[in-house]
Amino acid sequence: MISIGHTHPHYVKKIEEQLEKIAFYSNSVKIRQQEELSQKLGELSEYNDYDLFLCNSGAEANENALKLSSFHNGRKKIIAFEKSFHGRTSLAVAATNDPSIQAPINSSHDIIFLPLNDEAALMKLLTKDVCAVIIEGIQGVAGIQAPSDDFFKFLRKKCDETGALMILDEVQSGYGRTGMFFAHQFATIRPDIITIAKGMGNGFPVAGVLIAPHLKAKHGMLGTTFGGAYLACAAAIAVLDVIKEERLIANAANMGSYLIEKVKKMDGVKEVRGKGLMIGVEMHFNASALRNDLVFKHQIFTGSASNKNTVRLLPPLTVTQEEVDHFLKGFALALKPHLQSVS
Ligand code: PLP
Repeated sequence: MISIGHTHPHYVKKIEEQLEKIAFYSNSVKIRQQEELSQKLGELSEYNDYDLFLCNSGAEANENALKLSSFHNGRKKIIAFEKSFHGRTSLAVAATNDPSIQAPINSSHDIIFLPLNDEAALMKLLTKDVCAVIIEGIQGVAGIQAPSDDFFKFLRKKCDETGALMILDEVQSGYGRTGMFFAHQFATIRPDIITIAKGMGNGFPVAGVLIAPHLKAKHGMLGTTFGGAYLACAAAIAVLDVIKEERLIANAANMGSYLIEKVKKMDGVKEVRGKGLMIGVEMHFNASALRNDLVFKHQIFTGSASNKNTVRLLPPLTVTQEEVDHFLKGFALALKPHLQSVS
């Protein structure tokens, strides 16, 4: 997912310069750029006491986060949430609440799905045999559904009491998109493990697992051939440089509030959910045809959601007010025929 816009000059320069030197070398030797990346990420996210394991995709980050949790407490049972999406590899897809993308072989894991924001269900089922709870900072594929701050706090407390690890999947909601570096930071809690991908490389395949200092990693616990290679680091470092220099997290907060306020007032809109530039617009009707018109007639590409009435908006963090106004104009035009057909 694009965070700093396509072909940002700093991003292009950093990757080109790295390519001229060396693109890849084995992870059995120290790659200095991994340290620079970890340090810059720690500073911007305020997680500089956490370790960073680098891999290649969101699913792989979640797979490793769950595996690390099981290494840590020796348990197997996982709690995830209804409508969650965590990726398509074995354990990540098992923790994804969508049977249509699970093969029979994925059903061997011990996963329970609880309703989001339901403290009573958590109270009952988060017991001392649970290995980890995995939760999105804001559910994306579900159509932008946020855990409440109180729910995050309650979950933190219950994980502490039971010894289950709290894994925050910030693959979609992280990297400044919500107007904070991580969506869970609005709730002022600190998870045990945070997974990151998408915006991290601005399209370059790079992902990571941030690991709290109390979780002691041992040699060989996690591993990968391509994770954290030179080019991936160059891309990820360039992204962090641009987010910092251009104050893109503040831009996401400002442009997001502007966009949300304007869209809320439009006809046909039932509800607008989300924070910053992670926005779900729920219409009074199935939005599939509207999304088609937006892309084919107005060249505006939007995201779908498991809730078919919802349009997902995830523009780059560099979006300007002019571009938001361009979107609003196109959205209003595209909406017109659909309003007539429902009225
Ligand atoms: N977690 C969340 C919240 C996601 O939205 C996604 C992808 O959409 C993933 C994990 C999986 O990431 P990837 O496609 O990089 O494996």
